[in-house]
Amino acid sequence: MPYVHDTIARLQKSSPAQTEFYQAAEEVLESIRPLLDRNPRYREASIIERIIEPERQILFRVTWLDDQGKIQVNKGYRIQFNSALGPYKGGLRFHPSVNAGIIKFLGFEQIFKNALTGLPIGGGKGGSDFNPKGRSDAEIMRFCQSFMTELYRHIGATIDVPAGDIGVGAREIGYLYGQYKRLTGSYEGVLTGKGLNWGGSLVRKEATGYGAVYFAENMLGGRSDSLDGKTCLVSGAGNVAIYTIEKLYQLGALPVTCSDSQGTIYHAEGIDLELLKDLKEVRRTSLEDYLKVHPSAQYIAVKDYPKDGHAVWRFPAQAAFPSATQNELTAADAKALLANGVICVSEGANMPSTADAVDLFLAAKIAYGPGKAANAGGVATSQLEMAQNASMSMWSFDQVDQRLQGIMRGIYEQSANTAAEFNDPTNFVLGANIAGFRKVADAMIEQGA
Ligand code: GLU
Repeated sequence: MPYVHDTIARLQKSSPAQTEFYQAAEEVLESIRPLLDRNPRYREASIIERIIEPERQILFRVTWLDDQGKIQVNKGYRIQFNSALGPYKGGLRFHPSVNAGIIKFLGFEQIFKNALTGLPIGGGKGGSDFNPKGRSDAEIMRFCQSFMTELYRHIGATIDVPAGDIGVGAREIGYLYGQYKRLTGSYEGVLTGKGLNWGGSLVRKEATGYGAVYFAENMLGGRSDSLDGKTCLVSGAGNVAIYTIEKLYQLGALPVTCSDSQGTIYHAEGIDLELLKDLKEVRRTSLEDYLKVHPSAQYIAVKDYPKDGHAVWRFPAQAAFPSATQNELTAADAKALLANGVICVSEGANMPSTADAVDLFLAAKIAYGPGKAANAGGVATSQLEMAQNASMSMWSFDQVDQRLQGIMRGIYEQSANTAAEFNDPTNFVLGANIAGFRKVADAMIEQGA
């Protein structure tokens, strides 16, 4: 496949060591090949060369005072990848693993994900290598204020609208928004995921997890099946995992796992959702504490994980919801899942399955929903928050949830119909990538070079 190979080789030369970005780019480029073969206009307009190049990348220094009075320094990033469909939109990730390559892969995925929602939003992403773990509330606030002291000049309600991602939840959005307002004097809806009393949207907190479950239910519905009665594996213990588990229970499924950076919980009777919320949303403590309430549950520490993968994927189940982070599900994990009878994988995280794992899911023709389709409910509901802010109104929980369900159904239909159009009906990687790419590429052509 010379064009994919040549393009990736060129990228590697211009910015070495951005492994995750090459992985994401290669997947998209490979799967859109049938479209490029069918329709020469994309090659004629140099769309590939243009789409893999971010429109703008901002790298800045973030200095802040820790509780000991020492000045700490971190890197801040914002990538404004593609604005063909609307203002840049995408989260901020605060995690020590953040670097230019991670932000670039996330920004690239965001372009196609946002396109699939059918809403007018372009792709962006940002974050910092700041590690919020073990930091006091005051330190988090000072870090967020310092981060926004630079970021504010690059964003705006119709320019670029950041939100949360790993390490950035309602608390951080509050500190970031407060600083934006202090600096600009403006109450515009420049961030999403805001508190409900000051411009936030109902369902935003739940949206990514709920959306991943709605997507799974649509995929299974397409196969005359449903989640009802199915045992499910969920990884992660953040916003996405918690509300995936909540919605799974509502649809009659049994979620039996969750995990954090230290270990995995397996609870055969079903994860205790209220306890999980208390541990992670209120007390912000380790999952190991789950055992204090449920000594019969199993806890596997990271040091005891299988050498070739993650403990969470080694339990028997019919559906899996990777909801933690990139490349958390290896080929060995995929084999274990398939051997144990998994028929549905819906990705709440961004690119959680390695390329080899994805190939195994596609070869097995299970219901596999790639992240950019399955987890788009979060950013879609962010856009609904922007719409409410622009009209200075607030919709009811039901209104937003109905819209979310409709959007996830639409993404499922686009993925399925496009996959069928290209004679590969179970391949939603191809379906989602082509459907998303086509919208962005057509807009770029219409808007000129
Ligand atoms: N971080 C989320 C994502 O990966 C949400 C982004 C947003 O709401 O802007 O899509």
